[in-house]
Amino acid sequence: VKAKAAVLARFGEPLEVREYPAPEKPEPGAALVRVEMAGICGTDVHLWQGQLPIPLPVILGHETAGRIEALGAGLEKDWLGRPLSPGDRVGWASSIVCGTCYYCRLKRQPTRCVARKAYGISYRADEPPHLHGGYAEYIVLRPGTAIFRLPDGLATEAVVGAGCALWTVIHGIERTGLSWGDVVVVQGSGPVGLAAVAVAREAGAARIIVTGGPEHRLERARRFGADVTIDVDAVPHFDRKRAVLNATPGGYGADVVIECVGHPAAVPEGMEYCRDGGKMLVLGQYGDAGPTPMHPHVITRKQIQLHGSWGFEPRHVLAALEFLERCGQRYPFGETITHRFGIDQANEALAATREWRAGKSVIVP
Ligand SMILES: [Zn+2]
Ligand SMILES: [Zn+2]
Repeated sequence: VKAKAAVLARFGEPLEVREYPAPEKPEPGAALVRVEMAGICGTDVHLWQGQLPIPLPVILGHETAGRIEALGAGLEKDWLGRPLSPGDRVGWASSIVCGTCYYCRLKRQPTRCVARKAYGISYRADEPPHLHGGYAEYIVLRPGTAIFRLPDGLATEAVVGAGCALWTVIHGIERTGLSWGDVVVVQGSGPVGLAAVAVAREAGAARIIVTGGPEHRLERARRFGADVTIDVDAVPHFDRKRAVLNATPGGYGADVVIECVGHPAAVPEGMEYCRDGGKMLVLGQYGDAGPTPMHPHVITRKQIQLHGSWGFEPRHVLAALEFLERCGQRYPFGETITHRFGIDQANEALAATREWRAGKSVIVP
């Protein structure tokens, strides 16, 4: 079988549609999956533009769901030990770690595994088995991938609509130890900010203030439970600080600030929103967007606990799937998908994401 794929061959240039052979019988422990839907993540735009060092050519796409077409010898169960068969609808953790390095084994920071690889990011498309990204008709899942059988009641749209943002946010918020009754500021109203609103609410946040834009995104943040939204384009920096602090009890600031913007200047601004002794989670700086001026004095004086968080582990992907199954009615992530494209239209899909036209764009092969 030949499989069509959208391939990033040169940074900043249009993706090319190429064909690769899909293995009829995957190697032992591997799986061949027919892609049902692949999400376009903001990270894909950064990768496309060459802002992260990755090998080329690559098939982009790390938020994917599909149906098992064939299983390699020995692969009979998903990550939870539930039986797997051809025809099953599955999702999977998009990264694979070694399990034996200093960070995996000794320091329990597997997201920083020295040999970590990710579908749609770190595998070359010109090396067999080629199909290691979501923007394709088929994807080959390597031995050791954390595969999850999707429950029948959980729509593919919800899984892909929530995407890696939900996994990343669950991991990040876990690191902050957000407590019941906390006042939370979420900076940014893109997919990560939206997921942060949902997870913070379910984790017990009493009040959630979102700074972001444009208005259609703030509207969605309110639908997901934000109590107050502040449009960063309409309210200049100084007034914004006052507006955020005024929205917190006593004007003292937030217990937890979650940065989901990606622009470096958001980090010192977020620290201004923290109450004394509060927590700041820097989550949005996945791409290296450069330095920013800041006053470290603020960290000392306000006794801020600063947290960073990178990626996710399989258990966070599982937590996200269970979250969507349990709370999907309150947080309709599937409805955030506003644009659908074929593989041939992958460039339009990337452009829609880059220009923030879309709530969420997906590729449906
Ligand atoms: Zn992503
Ligand atoms: Zn490792």
